[in-house]
Amino acid sequence: MGVSGLQLTLALIKPDVHAHPGLYQHIVGTVLKNRLLFVRSRVLRWSRQDSASFYGEHEGRFFYNRLVGFMASGQMSAHILAGEDAISRWRQLMGPTKTFRSQFTHRESIRGQFGLTDTRNCTHGADSEKAALREMQIFFPEFDAKTWWKEQSEFFKEGRVHFDEGRVEHVPVGKVHSDEGRVENTPVDRIS
Ligand code: ADP
Ligand code: MG
Repeated sequence: MGVSGLQLTLALIKPDVHAHPGLYQHIVGTVLKNRLLFVRSRVLRWSRQDSASFYGEHEGRFFYNRLVGFMASGQMSAHILAGEDAISRWRQLMGPTKTFRSQFTHRESIRGQFGLTDTRNCTHGADSEKAALREMQIFFPEFDAKTWWKEQSEFFKEGRVHFDEGRVEHVPVGKVHSDEGRVENTPVDRIS
């Protein structure tokens, strides 16, 4: 797991949320309030083929075609999140898969509040460390997790990061040396 308790996970914010920019901002805010940090973010749009292969494990289920079509229906975003027990904490924030159940049983969760249907349920979260690694590679092939753990994880663990709203990413600050050997002295957003 690396630095004690710190974990990385892969989150998707699905097209139903991106159809409403205000809701996207709100969910980003929910992540931040819950002390999860954005390591990488990108906005993208899937082809049906991308969608079908990512959700291949569900092939044959009654909702598969609906799911594949929905995930290729518009813009979405992928995020690498860091935090204490990030995998389970992000899934907890999301709420259970089925929106119509979550609306009664987990009313504070993202799906409980904003899910439209059992398929259009706002978000995805990797469900294990193995899935998180695999999914991070799918969306961020250039992201080198080993180097991140070695060079950046301490900054994230200690909250020595600044949130770049435009990029929707936290950037390490405090001890970052530029090429000229200057020490950047950007203010620090304390996380804890
Ligand atoms: P989760 O996203 O919570 O990990 P699954 O991996 O089981 O859930 O399913 C992947 C996605 O397929 C869900 O997020 C949802 O969009 C869709 N889905 C799953 N189960 C159903 C269902 N019973 N009815 C409609 N859509 C479903
Ligand atoms: Mg799943």
